[in-house]
Amino acid sequence: MSADKAFLQTLAAIVGAEHVLAPDADPARYLDDWRGLFHGRAQAVVLPGSTAEVAEVVRLAAEHGVPIVPQGGNTGLVGGSVPDKTGRAIVLSITRMNRVRSVDPDGNTLVLEAGATLEQVHAAAEAVDRHFPLSLASERRCTVGGNIGSNAGGLAVLAYGNMRDLVLGLEVVLPDGRIWNGLRTLRKDNTGYDLKHLFIGAEGTLGIVTAAALKLFPRIRSRATALAGVPSPEAALALFRRARAAAGPSLTAAEILPRFGLELASRHSGAPDPLRAPHAWYVLLELSSPVGPGLSTVMQAVLADAVLAGEAAEYVTTTEPKEAARLWTLRESMSDSQKLAGASIKHDVSVPVSDVPAFIHEAGLAALATLPGCRPVPFGHLGDGNIHFNITQPDGADGKDFLARWDEMNAAVHAVVKRFNGSIAAEHGIGRLKRDLLPDVKDPVELDLMRSMKRLLDPAGIMNPGIVLPVPDRASRTT
Ligand code: FAD
Repeated sequence: MSADKAFLQTLAAIVGAEHVLAPDADPARYLDDWRGLFHGRAQAVVLPGSTAEVAEVVRLAAEHGVPIVPQGGNTGLVGGSVPDKTGRAIVLSITRMNRVRSVDPDGNTLVLEAGATLEQVHAAAEAVDRHFPLSLASERRCTVGGNIGSNAGGLAVLAYGNMRDLVLGLEVVLPDGRIWNGLRTLRKDNTGYDLKHLFIGAEGTLGIVTAAALKLFPRIRSRATALAGVPSPEAALALFRRARAAAGPSLTAAEILPRFGLELASRHSGAPDPLRAPHAWYVLLELSSPVGPGLSTVMQAVLADAVLAGEAAEYVTTTEPKEAARLWTLRESMSDSQKLAGASIKHDVSVPVSDVPAFIHEAGLAALATLPGCRPVPFGHLGDGNIHFNITQPDGADGKDFLARWDEMNAAVHAVVKRFNGSIAAEHGIGRLKRDLLPDVKDPVELDLMRSMKRLLDPAGIMNPGIVLPVPDRASRTT
């Protein structure tokens, strides 16, 4: 029997033959990334049902020197959840492990397995009259493990932080098959290095998260949502500042949208532009609170003052869930709707909040200098400085010719990000897509420490090789 066959048979003995899928069983689900940029190959897709099984699979893979790609919902946007083209790796899908282990409404904690979808987390929190704030458009498919692996951000970071801020403890299978039980639900624990943070945002390169203890919050009882038309990114920032001063932690979202993006989003989703006139820019604000009514009055006062100050031209506000959902649809359709205007080159970047307007102007100029006629569509999380600086092809241009300029456009936009001391990977991570850009933006000492940690925890380099950091000999770089 060949070594490969013996390996696959032992895998089947560990997890059950029905949980070892042939690599061609569902390539779109397990081998192609969400954006269609990467198409990998694998020996098999393995779906363990328990932490003990994950540990056995990892030990077996380590023994055979087989690379492992940890995978959740495979909704990641940087190619980190799919294998390379060599076909040597196994994909380890955590999705069968989705049980709630415990809920503590007094401590506001929820412990569950890493294959639970974000939607299941929301349901588990609501079942005990609590709120879990991470909010992504991929929530029906993305998993807790993937949210942790990518340190996901999303729409409520302004008030609650990103996934890193929502995790109290982790259970992790290490690259040698040991199980680290760090599933503590404590709010205070100063017993040395806080190792969970090594695994959060590690994109599956240091171990496989099998369970997590998450923070819960009081259930939201009232919301006020508004869309304001504003003349410029500077005015948008002034409106954000005003709203935060008035509402404090009740300001849970402040998103900026450009006119062109809003037009596309409205056409794509069917959600109407609710304002009377077109405006150069828009700000979507949300106030929410567990305390009860009163938010609408605050929102109205903020916006009325903003109009008097010339920061906003007009606005609509609502406390009606259906109307609010229509406003949010405009924001959430931003990315997908750009397909209506052809191909686009995307950048997930962040700069200090006070620099967002200057960044938007300068990055726009840099993009236009690189390719006259291209159409920047910068939108996103004004309140935390994370701008999705997407650029749509020139009207009528050939999409392929435009995408051939990807690296050049990246370099132009990232140079501006660097000038503002920003990040070229704000919430989606590095993955395979941005791996080779990392040495240009990371402090050399920091990069060296990252390599040392990888060597320490995964000396054989089997855990998601080629993601975040290049494999040392660069031999398996095939994408
Ligand atoms: P996967 O895509 O399967 O994996 C992501 C990374 O985590 C990979 O490197 C993988 O190896 C690693 N990983 C997966 N499971 C584990 C595990 N158990 N242990 C260790 N590592 C693991 N992201 C945002 O931050 N903000 C957004 O607003 C947002 N919106 C999105 C909207 C849409 C429509 C889509 C398609 C994606 C969006 N994303 C967003 C990206 C994506 O949904 C998130 O990164 C999500 O957290 C990925 O979860 P997943 O389960 O799909 O992980």
